[in-house]
Amino acid sequence: MASAAPALIACPDCDLLHALPRLEPGQKARCQRCDAILAESRRNALDRTLALALAGLVLFVPANIYPLLRLSLEGRAQDMTIFSGALALWEQGLHPLAVFVFAVSIAVPALRLLALLTLLMPLRLGRTPRRLAHMHRLTDFLKPWGMLEVYLLGVIVAFVKLADLATVILGPAFFCFVGLILCTTAASACFDPRLLWERLETSR
Ligand SMILES: [Zn+2]
Repeated sequence: MASAAPALIACPDCDLLHALPRLEPGQKARCQRCDAILAESRRNALDRTLALALAGLVLFVPANIYPLLRLSLEGRAQDMTIFSGALALWEQGLHPLAVFVFAVSIAVPALRLLALLTLLMPLRLGRTPRRLAHMHRLTDFLKPWGMLEVYLLGVIVAFVKLADLATVILGPAFFCFVGLILCTTAASACFDPRLLWERLETSR
């Protein structure tokens, strides 16, 4: 471990307080009492998270514009996009469900990516993000509400079920959607909130 810094951290398992040392990339700090991981300094965490969030945002556009599935039955073909799925629910009178599907599959993932970029872009440029604490709280709050994986599972189930009844082709949006899920999941895994708190400390 490198030289000690004044930042205090409580062990997530046993609450023992530690003075968190400055970690070199790749190092972990462990609790003296129970050996739980207190903090971990990931290599190039900022660049990786930023790159993944940007890639996610780029994939978000085709994932929503292009068809997810194409259904063909007796010479008639119909394309299904993420939005048209929510719209179909709305038209059937299932309004709360339509709003929920729209929120968890489109609005929340987009908001979360934008909030993450609003935090990370200024950090990368050496500035302190505006409303840093609020934005971080927002990304944390939105995290469990972006249910892209659940939506994808639904699409795969529909694909398998409908394959017996009609010709179903996966559209380009499906692959963008898979890429989007991989990018957002990896961005969440790479994101190191300590980068934010370190910036906040130095800007004071
Ligand atoms: Zn502990």
